[in-house]
Amino acid sequence: MSNWKDNLRKIEPYVPGEQPKGKIIKLNANENPYPPSSNVLSALRTFQPDKLRLYPDSSAHVLKQALAKAFAVQENQVFVGNGSDEVIAMAYMACFQSGKPILFPDITYSFYPVWCKLLQTPYQTIPLDSEFRIHLEDYSQPNGGIILPNPNAPTGIGLKTEEIKNLLDRNQESIVIIDEAYVDFGAESVVPLIQKYENLLVIQTFSKSRSLAGLRIGMAFGSETIIQTLEAVKNSYNSYTCDQLAILLGTASIEDKAYLAEISARIQATRTKSAQRLKELGFKVYPSDSNFLFVTHPKANAKEIFEKLREQGILIRYFNLPRIQNHLRITIGTEEDMDILLQAIQKLLS
Ligand SMILES: *Cc1c(COP(=O)(O)O)cnc(C)c1O
Repeated sequence: MSNWKDNLRKIEPYVPGEQPKGKIIKLNANENPYPPSSNVLSALRTFQPDKLRLYPDSSAHVLKQALAKAFAVQENQVFVGNGSDEVIAMAYMACFQSGKPILFPDITYSFYPVWCKLLQTPYQTIPLDSEFRIHLEDYSQPNGGIILPNPNAPTGIGLKTEEIKNLLDRNQESIVIIDEAYVDFGAESVVPLIQKYENLLVIQTFSKSRSLAGLRIGMAFGSETIIQTLEAVKNSYNSYTCDQLAILLGTASIEDKAYLAEISARIQATRTKSAQRLKELGFKVYPSDSNFLFVTHPKANAKEIFEKLREQGILIRYFNLPRIQNHLRITIGTEEDMDILLQAIQKLLS
């Protein structure tokens, strides 16, 4: 009997929202329903495919320069990668090396514990309160680092800058990572705080508010010391995490601030309307600063709603996890998407 299979890693991965084929209404992965900035299309049209013979600029200089300008930081305070998922994984490798448990909420981005297991980072979860709010006082304990999304996922609830500032004042012995994947939909970014707090790393993505999930670009902002360590980790692993198109199109997208503001406002208006209609249908709707709503219905089964909508080609997200087994996460789509969804839900409930 050969035992070679014992060498294989046994690990339970993160499961992303499904990407089915055919005509569907897709409200399950927090993607943007609107196209990327027209600057992206213009840049794409100028691209010479012959350039693809060559490796991209491993430092992604033009993209970092555009980000530095847009966020009013220095270029050496910016890191970019192949989606923020990759940036976060590298941040774990760069920042969470003490051997002490890192802290994050019990209900949060479900990739956090997966990276802990992959990278053998010990962790401890801190429970949200009964209304699913984060209390940052609960993080005042010895730790190997802290990671939190703001707004939190899948609840959508945002924290105030003051609360994060107070956490940073109390927590100076480890690195605090704020994952701002959804910040452009109504929360407040703490990027400016990196100038004061050298142990703060702020992560953002092009996938949600910039409608570029398919391009894979994420970025981090932090002190030069943390950014240098991230670069060292990246260059110990894969020097070319951003390809030529990502660098070119990402730069074009960042330069169009007006469009970002426009579609984000449109999504927030649809969110307000959809939340109201869901409440009228009897749902409890958590306050959202993001491009999704987290809901539960006192009299209806969430898993059943999820499955029945799926049969009709409408995808939302259901998590079979403790405390949120009767909850649903609904991405805000176009007005039309939401009309179809709400009519379908109304039918299911009647
Ligand atoms: C979507 C998401 C990410 C990852 O986005 P990328 O597409 O990898 O940039 C990271 N954190 C949270 C909380 C998210 O919801």
